[in-house]
Amino acid sequence: MKLLVVATALGPLGSGRGGGVELTLAGLVAGLLQRGHQLTVLAAADSVLPVACAEASLWTCSGTPQPSVQHQDRAAPITLPADALLGRFWRRVLAEAPAAGFDAVLNLGYDWLPFWLTATAPLPIFHLVSMGSVTEAMDAVIADVAAWDQRRLAFHTASQAADFALPQPPVLVGNGFDLAAYQFCPQPDPLLGWVGRVAPEKGLEDAAAVAARCGLPLAVWGLVEDPLYAAAVEASVPAGTLQWKGFLPTHRLQAQLGRCRALLNTPKWNEAYGNVVVEAMACGVPVLAYRRGGPGELVQPGLNGLLVAPDDVDGLAEAVMRVDAIPREQCRRWVEAHASRAVLAARIETWLQRGLQA
Ligand code: UDP
Repeated sequence: MKLLVVATALGPLGSGRGGGVELTLAGLVAGLLQRGHQLTVLAAADSVLPVACAEASLWTCSGTPQPSVQHQDRAAPITLPADALLGRFWRRVLAEAPAAGFDAVLNLGYDWLPFWLTATAPLPIFHLVSMGSVTEAMDAVIADVAAWDQRRLAFHTASQAADFALPQPPVLVGNGFDLAAYQFCPQPDPLLGWVGRVAPEKGLEDAAAVAARCGLPLAVWGLVEDPLYAAAVEASVPAGTLQWKGFLPTHRLQAQLGRCRALLNTPKWNEAYGNVVVEAMACGVPVLAYRRGGPGELVQPGLNGLLVAPDDVDGLAEAVMRVDAIPREQCRRWVEAHASRAVLAARIETWLQRGLQA
């Protein structure tokens, strides 16, 4: 197939603004290239494609990024800034993609406009939905596409898909990672880890409380989206509990993350998947998480981590005491079997081919 993959309109690839979708795009494009498909990526100006995606063409547009939807009220109307990057992306898709001979467009952005365009667009648009329910307007437009032709939609996990009104059982594709990019670390340091955008829906305050209770430092990797929130979390625990590491490229992140005894994953929302959960496991780090959203499906208790009831900080602190019983090789093996780039690419190919049938 000749495919056009549209990135998020939140910022350039490589900046971290696109959250987990940036890594999803890298795994998906590299995996589809390996299966012999022709790929073009449409992304914000200044985007950098990872080396594994070098064979893909890159189209870029400049413009004002979208505000991130996860920080809006449920009743928020759809917003588009002046000179919207999103508008430029989709004008370019409609103007150039049909003549360029693409079989399909694969949208990775969680934005109203491409969903709304789907039923009347001059070529097939597919959507890998990257979040659960966030606003009523997005719920409605996703439900509209599902009612029109649900084959155009795929989701990462069952917990995520359950947020939406879908007439058919959902297509679930999980996610896929380049395992060669993550080195297995057999021997951890006395250190806990947390990875994610530093923003309230990610629940860093719970992980900080667990670390303080266990008397272990917590290394924190990720983009600080909300500095006031970061300062409040820092103030909630004894000085020195949190080690702020910043946003690192994957090769540096994994080298440091692998040294953790456990990853604490504490989202407060219905996390669609949880890339960082699988990235930690790929390094051999077991994951301690709430039984909620994607992480609640990815963590297999006793095999690659432990689950506790949502928001149970005491339960997580107790799980830290039991985590050393989990063999670290088991975590890595689980990722190899369930979340490799090749596994994702095969699922995406099947989804698109079925959706393209008359
Ligand atoms: N990430 C990174 N460097 C860092 C911290 C995080 O590249 O220092 C990436 C991480 O690899 C993951 C993404 O940020 O792909 C966070 O994705 P996740 O699915 O966990 O959450 P989202 O931000 O999409 O809600």
